[in-house]
Amino acid sequence: MTQVQVLVDCVGIDRLLTYTVPDELTVRVGDILTVPFGERYVGAIAIKLNPNLDNSINTNYEYELKNVYAVVNTGLFPPDYWQILNLTADYYRTSLIQTVKAALPPKLLDQSRYRIRVNYDLNHDAVQPKLGKAALIVWNFLREHEKSLTRHYITQKLPKYAASGLRSLMSLGYISTYLEPPTKPQPKFENVIVLLNSDPEALSNRQKEIIFILNQAGGELSQSELITQAKTTLASLKTLASKGIIAITKRECLRLGGKTHFVESDRPKILTTDQANALKSIQSSLNSSFNQEAQSITILLHGVTGSGKTEVYLQAIAIVLEQGKSALVLVPEIGLTPQLTDRFRARFGDRKVNLYHSKLSDGERFDTWRQMLDGSSQILIGTRSAVFAPLHNLGIIILDEEHDPSFKQDQPQPCYHARTVAEWRSQFSECPLILGSATPSSEVLYAVSSQILDKQSSEVKYLALPERIGNKQMPKIQVIDMREELKSANWSIFSRELQAAITEMQAQKKQGILFIHRRGYSTFVSCRSCGFVLNCPRCDVSLSYHHESKDSEMLRCHYCNYAQPKPIPCPSCNSPYFKHFGSGTQKVEQELSKLFPNLKIIRFDSDTTQNKHEHRHLIEKFQAGEADLLVGTQMLTKGLDIPQVTLVGVISADGLLNFSDYRAGERAFQTLTQVAGRAGRGAEIGEVIIQTYTPEHPVIQAVQNYDGDEFMRRELEARTELNYPPIGQMALIRLNSENSNLVESVAIALSEHLRTKSAWEVLGAAPAMITRVNNRYRWQILLKFHPQNLIHVPTLEDLKAWINNQAVRVAIDIDPLTIL
Ligand code: ADP
Ligand code: ZN
Ligand code: ZN
Repeated sequence: MTQVQVLVDCVGIDRLLTYTVPDELTVRVGDILTVPFGERYVGAIAIKLNPNLDNSINTNYEYELKNVYAVVNTGLFPPDYWQILNLTADYYRTSLIQTVKAALPPKLLDQSRYRIRVNYDLNHDAVQPKLGKAALIVWNFLREHEKSLTRHYITQKLPKYAASGLRSLMSLGYISTYLEPPTKPQPKFENVIVLLNSDPEALSNRQKEIIFILNQAGGELSQSELITQAKTTLASLKTLASKGIIAITKRECLRLGGKTHFVESDRPKILTTDQANALKSIQSSLNSSFNQEAQSITILLHGVTGSGKTEVYLQAIAIVLEQGKSALVLVPEIGLTPQLTDRFRARFGDRKVNLYHSKLSDGERFDTWRQMLDGSSQILIGTRSAVFAPLHNLGIIILDEEHDPSFKQDQPQPCYHARTVAEWRSQFSECPLILGSATPSSEVLYAVSSQILDKQSSEVKYLALPERIGNKQMPKIQVIDMREELKSANWSIFSRELQAAITEMQAQKKQGILFIHRRGYSTFVSCRSCGFVLNCPRCDVSLSYHHESKDSEMLRCHYCNYAQPKPIPCPSCNSPYFKHFGSGTQKVEQELSKLFPNLKIIRFDSDTTQNKHEHRHLIEKFQAGEADLLVGTQMLTKGLDIPQVTLVGVISADGLLNFSDYRAGERAFQTLTQVAGRAGRGAEIGEVIIQTYTPEHPVIQAVQNYDGDEFMRRELEARTELNYPPIGQMALIRLNSENSNLVESVAIALSEHLRTKSAWEVLGAAPAMITRVNNRYRWQILLKFHPQNLIHVPTLEDLKAWINNQAVRVAIDIDPLTIL
């Protein structure tokens, strides 16, 4: 008799349960099942078959095993998928079920909802007298409702009686439970018009026109498109269909996000010598069957901005597709995928390229997922969670802008890094992993020098593209000392140099980008007389000024979204000089329009790009020359390639430099270099102006001199001395609670407990840098350890069990990128 270990979708059950497989069912690993659990049926995933063949598992069950009830779905996952999820769960110290939930699209496992059905064959009058009070109340309640009800609903309506009433009705056989079929998003269909006879006789001129348009389109068009293009009606089409000239049929229409507009096709470019060498090297790793020691090949493609990395990806992928395999392309942010995906679609056509990211609707995700399951060779472009895409037959994984922090999941748990998971996938699929960046992360640079990536031994090849395409020069970077501006009585947030550069840019009808660190950053409101600063009443941060409309001046918290109108006199001293300071995007926009009344500006930040088409729309407007200047935050650093941009300005580098975090230097260097890289990508040489109060800072120096290699070498040296990552490893335990005394004492006690072990060094417990968010007080404990001790680090479950207090929430972050 076959047995299967399954993961059930029930809150609180995080271990595998064993069931028997009845003879009439066939179960494979990864199948989605329905299994009995207690008195109900729940959704489950088959994780392991015949566990009793594996000696490590105890086969003496204290209870009788139950049968699997049904197989709901089969063949959803590639063969090694579950090993990768297991590795992820282990490494990030979280349960498998939580990892599964992070990996799978929503609603796939949503099966735990089951319904109660009354057995109507029973004679109601005969039943009634046999029931106790609770059972009678539930029985009458059920009979009053025509439809079947969920247990959840009954429990809500009859909190006192539901549990015991249902139990006794069930044991008497008066009711039964059944699983509600998952409400999967259904495939969508559209009408298409197919031309059957392209040369019919006796048609009116209008009808001939319709046939002509249809013929031009290759004999097939969607109904809605044909109606628009031919300016006709459904009735006219039906007339043609009744004559047998066209057919109206249904076609499944895939809801794949982003394919909303047309791109012109494009051919492979003739590679430069550097590009050709890189491609040759990648190609050899595609073809070599991997030897035993090196299970995968990781390649760092270190190319300056505009050096043609993307072209190398495109040509490598062409080889992979020819081999009948698929390519996974991971990118940091959807803000840059419109441009990148257009290049992929232009090269490979719409059918081959799919998108997967968190802004897709459930339906779109479901469709994309099904696309991947058919096993055909394809390209999937996606953000972080796409690293778990169930692509079969992977031939290459590309992780572009490898250094970008958005590849790290912050919450919910597990806090995985897409690069680490991609490394495992490349090992299991025996395919190369290409890490592309102009500013490689310390992890990958360390891996190149030590040949260890993400604590896994593997080969890491280094390929460089040191020059921009067409021998274009890197933009010249000018650093402006803002202290001098103050001394010269320039009170504006724009230095004289930046003002002159904008004037010049405008005169020459060129375009520019202004970078501001963070949305609304430091636009705090304070009193010029007494220094009073308005803080969020729920979080320990100052409120940001938002000019939302002409007559609404709002103060807003960027952590919890608390908002209040701006008070006019100072609440503390009544002074009328209660002003906002700093340089958020809105402030900069306002200052600009004062200084340059004719300058057209587009603001590009998370306030103006809420919906998924907004990014594309704003970038297209800018590219079409509808504005002179793009003003925005972090999103601007991510791969924008707009040839007309000649000027890049950084309003203030200081916000980036002054962070109490060991990674601050690395991050500041990467961000500034990336922003600078947006300039001069077209025919004209670019110009970059960085304003700062600390021009002597080593980060500023390294950015200005394009000396990242030396900067990162020194950075790694310093980290080696302190045993910081990537040399040593870290885990951050985060605790929070509404009760500040409670979380403090729990955090201190936990840190004392952890100090009794020798596998790590304990830093803290300490309050988090922002000690309160949304009325929850935050504490943290940092563990520093040798990578080989990761397996001893407590799991999330261990921590919850140790704390054993519902009022304190806990999370664990392995390899944290920020320690705030
Ligand atoms: P990166 O990804 O390194 O920023 P891209 O691949 O976007 O660089 O290349 C920068 C620009 O140069 C793009 O407009 C691209 O089309 C063009 N380009 C890339 N490779 C070549 C080549 N071999 N010949 C001509 N143009 C190229
Ligand atoms: Zn707040
Ligand atoms: Zn005041």
